[in-house]
Amino acid sequence: MSYVKGLKCRECGRKYPKEPLYLCEYCFGPLEVDYDYEKIKKKLTKAAIESRPKNLWRYRELMPIDGNPISGLDSGFTPLIRAKNLEKALGVKELYVKDDSVNHPTLSFKDRVVAVALSKAKEFGFDTVACASTGNLANSVSAQSAIAGFKRYIFIPADLESGKVVGTLVYDPILVAVEGNYDQVNRLCSEIATKYKWAFVNINIRPYYAEGSKTYGYEIAEQLGWKTPKHIISPCAGGSLITKILKGLKEFQLLGLINNQPSTINHKLSTKIYAAQATGCCPIVTAIKENSDIIKPVKPNTIAKSLAIGNPADGIYAAATVKESGGWAEDVSDEEIVEAIKLLAQTEGIFTETAGGVTLGVTKKLIEQGKIPKDESIVVCITGNGLKTQEAIVEKIGKPIKIKPSLEAFENSVSYKL
Ligand SMILES: *Cc1c(COP(=O)(O)O)cnc(C)c1O
Ligand SMILES: [Zn+2]
Repeated sequence: MSYVKGLKCRECGRKYPKEPLYLCEYCFGPLEVDYDYEKIKKKLTKAAIESRPKNLWRYRELMPIDGNPISGLDSGFTPLIRAKNLEKALGVKELYVKDDSVNHPTLSFKDRVVAVALSKAKEFGFDTVACASTGNLANSVSAQSAIAGFKRYIFIPADLESGKVVGTLVYDPILVAVEGNYDQVNRLCSEIATKYKWAFVNINIRPYYAEGSKTYGYEIAEQLGWKTPKHIISPCAGGSLITKILKGLKEFQLLGLINNQPSTINHKLSTKIYAAQATGCCPIVTAIKENSDIIKPVKPNTIAKSLAIGNPADGIYAAATVKESGGWAEDVSDEEIVEAIKLLAQTEGIFTETAGGVTLGVTKKLIEQGKIPKDESIVVCITGNGLKTQEAIVEKIGKPIKIKPSLEAFENSVSYKL
């Protein structure tokens, strides 16, 4: 059963069939999936969703596939945690962490988009999948394509963290480490994609792939009891996730699943969305702060490698999302990222990667600036796991106390400190 009418150009509205296409032939705008919301509304009720298994496919009608999903059957529906200790530390009243650091199977939000991309790639009849990645996408494509039985080619910048490299190689893909930054990897992959008949999940399958991010937004609303928070802070790399969080919430509103008001997809939400980037790579944040419609590409230099995209594909849409919602944007230094990683660990027991440090660091800054009021509900998007980016903090935390295996050694070196 399909609820997808086809693809539609985001810029000029021209319609295209359901095929592995991603750019408008006329204006080069990106293509987006076009749904039959009237039909979805009849089928997708709160009760229907609540009766389904706790994975991202519980929103199946709003996903761009025609048949049954073949991947991600245990992905998504990650915890939304009421962060009481962090509330105290930041001096705010109501704060939640949406924790994709424990997403299945590869511990980042990319497991959502890949589940959708591979299900669609199978429907299109591809036998080989590929991606250009800053790390987490590599892990997820590699793992999920191993399960689904695709041949797999993964392209990464050569200087990635070892956790991301090992966490890709273990699934035995062909892993290509390109001597260059992500933007160069991506340009190379675009050339390869035109020549080889592969499903590049974030290039020719991108319109379908990107829809998977909406489930992160759906879950926030469902887990808050079918309500939206006042503020959501999202990290940005290519800028897709943040736009899809807003799209997801607007779809829920359109379908009457939240806010209980009949509305159109253009009805304004009361949720403000904020973009978070590292100072060493913040083209989207800069455009928002300067109120500019163009994204000036930068050369990334930050420990937040998963977010290090200097020329973000969805940058202008990310900036437009923030503006439309009435939110704002901030960036944080590498030191602030490390501090925020430690703060989240020491208050909530969640070990996030550098991207999560960016999001929490920016949240703290926006609260201190008064941009986010202390008495309104806040959701912080934690999208990846800290065990994958240990290089970033290994020199900034304590060291174990080494002793000989005797009581005397223990008392001499440890317990005298008590
Ligand atoms: C890819 C990624 C993002 C951001 O994704 P975009 O949709 O490209 O903006 C955020 N956090 C983590 C950990 C990621 O790997
Ligand atoms: Zn167009």
